[in-house]
Amino acid sequence: MSINSTAEVDTVIVGGGQAGLALGYWLSRQGRNFLILDQHQRPGAAWRQRWDSLRLFTPAKYDGLPGSPFPGDPLAFPTKDQLADYLEDYVRRFDLPYVPGVDVEDISRDGETFLLRAGDREWKSKNVVIATGGHRIPKVPAFAGELDPGIRQLHSQDYKNPGQLKEGPVLVVGLGNSGAEIALETARFRPTLLAGKPSSEMPMRHGRTAARFALPLVRFLGLYILNLNTPMGRKAAPKFKAMAAPLIRTKSKDLAAAGVQLNPRLAGVQDGLPVLEDGQRLEVANIIWCTGYHEDYSWVKLPAFDDHGEPQQTRGVANSVPGLYFIGQEFLFSAASATLPGTCRDARFLAGQVMAQRSSGLIKV
Ligand SMILES: Cc1cc2nc3c(=O)[nH]c(=O)nc-3n(C[C@H](O)[C@H](O)[C@H](O)COP(=O)(O)OP(=O)(O)OC[C@H]3O[C@@H](n4cnc5c(N)ncnc54)[C@H](O)[C@@H]3O)c2cc1C
Repeated sequence: MSINSTAEVDTVIVGGGQAGLALGYWLSRQGRNFLILDQHQRPGAAWRQRWDSLRLFTPAKYDGLPGSPFPGDPLAFPTKDQLADYLEDYVRRFDLPYVPGVDVEDISRDGETFLLRAGDREWKSKNVVIATGGHRIPKVPAFAGELDPGIRQLHSQDYKNPGQLKEGPVLVVGLGNSGAEIALETARFRPTLLAGKPSSEMPMRHGRTAARFALPLVRFLGLYILNLNTPMGRKAAPKFKAMAAPLIRTKSKDLAAAGVQLNPRLAGVQDGLPVLEDGQRLEVANIIWCTGYHEDYSWVKLPAFDDHGEPQQTRGVANSVPGLYFIGQEFLFSAASATLPGTCRDARFLAGQVMAQRSSGLIKV
């Protein structure tokens, strides 16, 4: 497909991860004139960039996008590259208008028309969907800058495998799912210490049996009970966004059994070394920050955000900017919204809104 630099289209989706592609599927079925702009050359890049040994927590039976079940054993847990390949194939299979290598730097509005700029290229559209993923800017505590420059520091976003580490002990900071899985891996090659407390742990053992019996219940809870249409979901939403997810596959006892030393949270830096809340100074050669991400929408120059920079939206439809939409964010509508099953449901709903909202001005939730 050839793209003009001042192309005018009905809808632009910014971000061609799973959320953008699932929405693209529905827009394509409705014959909409739309584009998916993505900064990466290949679909699936967000998954490809994650660490080498990563496997999904969700079984294959829940990993397919609309119109195309994930291939193979439905109870298996795909690798991150299998998922990335699936997304790349999805774009080809449905001939989705994925435009690679476009880093949208600025979105503004001229009357009813949105203007999107990426370098010297510009697009105009009636609708814009922000599908850029909840994980944008790696979060690292300010005191990281005071650490001895001899300590190798990596954020989980940049961690690929233990080959990147210096000789000597590793401190993994943050006991969410990334921290737990990375610590379990580094412990096979280096003495590993972990700083942090898990928010909670899944009560059952993750694996094929869970995929058959327990994960369907977890999925049901995440999609149909914990959502903004239920009192329980509305109550849970703010807490859910603020806290780390429970440990899903790796439990604290697995870490202890693998020789990972579990410690309190990290408090700061003394003489270039990390210091724990209990005052202990740690002599480590490597630190892996598994401390999460900030969302950044400063490049969206539209009055669609609250004082904390969070999108003001109702089920993905911007409250005060007609024609602007969001998808893929944590608890956009349900506890599953940032995962594959939740994104797929949100995409179907949002496609209906993109079609209907401009004509009726109403949002049906
Ligand atoms: C370690 C880890 C494990 C996970 N495991 C699972 C799991 O097992 N099952 C599950 O369902 N979910 C899992 N998730 C959660 C979730 O599926 C992913 O975070 C998912 O990648 C989010 O999809 P997305 O399309 O919203 O965003 P992304 O996949 O991040 O895609 C967004 C795209 O937008 C592009 N982009 C961003 N900004 C711009 C811009 N300004 N201009 C152009 N392009 C832009 C990015 O390059 C990217 O390609 C996991 C997440 C992590 C971090």
